[in-house]
Amino acid sequence: MPDNKVIKAIVCPMCGELSKAEIYTSVNPTVNKSIRDKVLDGGLFAWSCPSCSHSARLTYPILYNDMKNRFMVYLIPKIERFQLCDNSLESKYINLRNISKRIVPTFNSFKEKIFIFESGLDDMAVELTKLAIGQTVSKKLDGAEIFEGYLSMYDRESNTMGFTYFTGDDRIPYVQTARLEIYGKSKDIIDRIAVKDKKLKGFIKIDEEWAENILYRYKRAKHIEKLNKLKED
Ligand SMILES: [Zn+2]
Repeated sequence: MPDNKVIKAIVCPMCGELSKAEIYTSVNPTVNKSIRDKVLDGGLFAWSCPSCSHSARLTYPILYNDMKNRFMVYLIPKIERFQLCDNSLESKYINLRNISKRIVPTFNSFKEKIFIFESGLDDMAVELTKLAIGQTVSKKLDGAEIFEGYLSMYDRESNTMGFTYFTGDDRIPYVQTARLEIYGKSKDIIDRIAVKDKKLKGFIKIDEEWAENILYRYKRAKHIEKLNKLKED
């Protein structure tokens, strides 16, 4: 599937002039190599008014389909749903199994998913790791609130991954690295607890809220195990 474009009418928020812009509804970095960088640096979403040169970043739904690395990330601005089963998309890609399909509500999470999957990582395990490390960061900063966190570094050779968190009322960035063993431990938990989630159809949202739920289910399972053991003894 090559890139898909549509022409959209745009009213300039500055001068009110109506103009037309080319908008990508889906991109395929396997077919069009240069498009990846344009997506990641935001160039693909840059728009400037032909009449007054006012520039802005456009936000609209776009599907990123990386066939080589077997993942699809669907950016749908502000989407709140956990799952999106698009029948036409599903039937189009019915022959392609084991493709990770995600929906994301923001440009930052869109970029993060691309980075995670290109690195060959399991995004579910990354989310769980991010949650655990985030709790450590919050403690370090005297209980500061963590607003967002993103995987910002992954280095197999030095056995580390790094997350950037936005902390406190001023959203100050804080970078925390961790050893890959923590990721490995998260992966074990995911393989045990998120079996059903791995089989879900369509595009799903794997984010902090999801990771919190997994952590809750994991703790509950451990608790039940303990109770059963007590009964046996
Ligand atoms: Zn204008």
